Amino acid sequence: MVDSTSIIQKDEAFGAHNYHPLPVVIATAEGVRLTDPEGRKYMDFLSAYSAVNQGHRHKKIIDALKNQADRCTLTSRAFHNDIMGEFLEKLCDYTGFEMALPMNTGAEAVETALKLARRWGAEVKGVENGKQEIIVCEENFHGRTIAIISFSTDPDARVNYGPYATGFKIIPYDNTEALSGAINENTVAFLVEPIQGEAGVFVPGDGYLKEVRRICTEKNVLFIADEIQTGFCRTGKKFAVDHDDVRPDVMTLGKALGGGVFPVSAVVADKAIMGLFTPGTHGSTFGGNPLGAAVGIAALEVLEEEKLAERSDRLGAFLREKLSRIDCPRIKEIRGKGLLNAVVFDDGFEAWDVCLALRDKGLLAKQTHGNIIRFAPPLVITEDELNEAIGIIQTVFESIPAATIA
Ligand SMILES: *Cc1c(COP(=O)(O)O)cnc(C)c1O
Repeated sequence: MVDSTSIIQKDEAFGAHNYHPLPVVIATAEGVRLTDPEGRKYMDFLSAYSAVNQGHRHKKIIDALKNQADRCTLTSRAFHNDIMGEFLEKLCDYTGFEMALPMNTGAEAVETALKLARRWGAEVKGVENGKQEIIVCEENFHGRTIAIISFSTDPDARVNYGPYATGFKIIPYDNTEALSGAINENTVAFLVEPIQGEAGVFVPGDGYLKEVRRICTEKNVLFIADEIQTGFCRTGKKFAVDHDDVRPDVMTLGKALGGGVFPVSAVVADKAIMGLFTPGTHGSTFGGNPLGAAVGIAALEVLEEEKLAERSDRLGAFLREKLSRIDCPRIKEIRGKGLLNAVVFDDGFEAWDVCLALRDKGLLAKQTHGNIIRFAPPLVITEDELNEAIGIIQTVFESIPAATIA
């Protein structure tokens, strides 16, 4: 067996350096547990940014993948395949929308939604083509394409990637007055994360999304919820918009839709909107492929059969309660919903070393923005596993020294 050090060296020698991973190598995975080439065991508290809500290598999802791999894997959309329709019906049933458009990655789903909104603006709202405006929020994360990074406020995401796409207006998050004020006759959509994941699990105030819904309806603007990270039971409901009991016009979905085994993304909307796509005006070679469809069906069934929304809600509340009792003077805030949580340390605190210490004790988590650590285990985590993890976190956090007075 090749050792972790030489594996990491190979990544660094031959792979582009567009990530800065924690120095740990995963060789095998099951449920919440990961093992490195040396046989050391870890608990996964990142879940591939919430793409592994159903747990690693869930038997039902792997079986679906294997069975479909033995039948047919790819047709392209030039022909029909015998499983895509069943998948989309299941997805529509799960989300409560009339139609779905399958893609592969989250960024592609967001691009699809942006195109749909611009098209709706021109063909339904009557905005002159080329004048469509889409409103987004500061600190957003919607993916890595040129169009999407054009409206990012993260300097790293935008570095020297100009010229940037136009037609986007950026407003503060969790601010409905800013939204009202930014809308004009050319505004076609408001694209927003119901909870900002990459920004550090930023949870907006109660009722924010309800007011967003009211404003968008009143001003004839599409409300697009990016549920790629927050969806599929991660926050304790099927979707994070469910906490405010609102229904957006369009949702972008990805990550856990592929059950942690295969990239599957989608956009869902009702027919009055999704019906605007006509043959030849959008597509993807792999979108809607049989393998992804089979995996998607199984991924959705696992969420339902194992009642992962309720589990996420209950265990998330338990986790936050336990975290709030940990005696660590550098912790500023603990926030989150369901099993999407963050521990926020003092400004300027470097959480990298804490992540290394957690790793050494057998728990993998990753810091964001330097001082925030996200805790988002697979939703299938058991109470015993969660208690074990809390023990590790407590030991590590309580050994963090208090700030020295400068
Ligand atoms: C991860 C993520 C994306 C991008 O998904 P990819 O599959 O990485 O392209 C988009 N929006 C949100 C909210 C995400 O968390």
